[in-house]
Amino acid sequence: MNSVIDLLKAAATRIGGDTARLDAEVLLAHATGIPRGELLLNQQHSIEPQHYETMVKRRAAGEPVAHITGTREFWSLDLIVTPDVLIPRPDSETLIEVALRLRKSPPQHILDLGTGSGALLLAALTEWPAATGLGIDASRAALAVAQANATRTGLAARANFCLGNWGAGLFERFDLILCNPPYIGTGEALSDEVRAHEPASALFAGQDGLDDYRRILPQLPGLLAEAGLTVLEIGHEQGPALMAMAAATAMAATLHQDLAGRDRCVALRSG
Ligand code: GLN
Repeated sequence: MNSVIDLLKAAATRIGGDTARLDAEVLLAHATGIPRGELLLNQQHSIEPQHYETMVKRRAAGEPVAHITGTREFWSLDLIVTPDVLIPRPDSETLIEVALRLRKSPPQHILDLGTGSGALLLAALTEWPAATGLGIDASRAALAVAQANATRTGLAARANFCLGNWGAGLFERFDLILCNPPYIGTGEALSDEVRAHEPASALFAGQDGLDDYRRILPQLPGLLAEAGLTVLEIGHEQGPALMAMAAATAMAATLHQDLAGRDRCVALRSG
């Protein structure tokens, strides 16, 4: 049996990197079932180190914390995460903030293109309790994760999920469309951790990272209801390119920043 403080110190040293101590704490909370705050406040817990040891070993070998715990929080929802989906990022919460700010009336019907874990759709459904939503993904494995998350968060009655290629073949119209497509250029620098553990199909979009926007933007006018809003995540250097692409459509576009002040999404309005 070891004290909390000794375990955390040793684990953080082995994990290394910018988030070593935080990672060590999150994993210990997961291993013991004791919330992180409580572990730190009351350090008298005596802990059986075996289970924790296995997790620290995986983290030290470069596996994402979310894959070890199997969950990640997004917009206060505790979501299941597997290697089949992109791990929800805090940056993507910007899309929900922007949608909340720009929508003049509550959306009735919401579309999430490339839903992955379901994070954006489920967050939106918690904000608009009368809305229903559809999540589209090209990956069956991702749809299974999204469906499990809808059930886990109590939102399954208002969420549907469907295999698809962006908006192709959809005949409904939506008041709000959310989308976090792949947008990394194939030659772009990307951390080894992301490259090795997250699905390439959710990350890469051709040489300049814009391939999927080229597919999605022309579909939007046919998917948006009157006075509908689309909020699209972008890479922080893609603002000018997206604004230029949007200018070629009949939609009005505005650029919005994340908490770090970097361009993070484009909002597009139909007429
Ligand atoms: N924001 C993610 C990253 O930088 C990429 C997500 C995406 O391509 N949609 O790792």
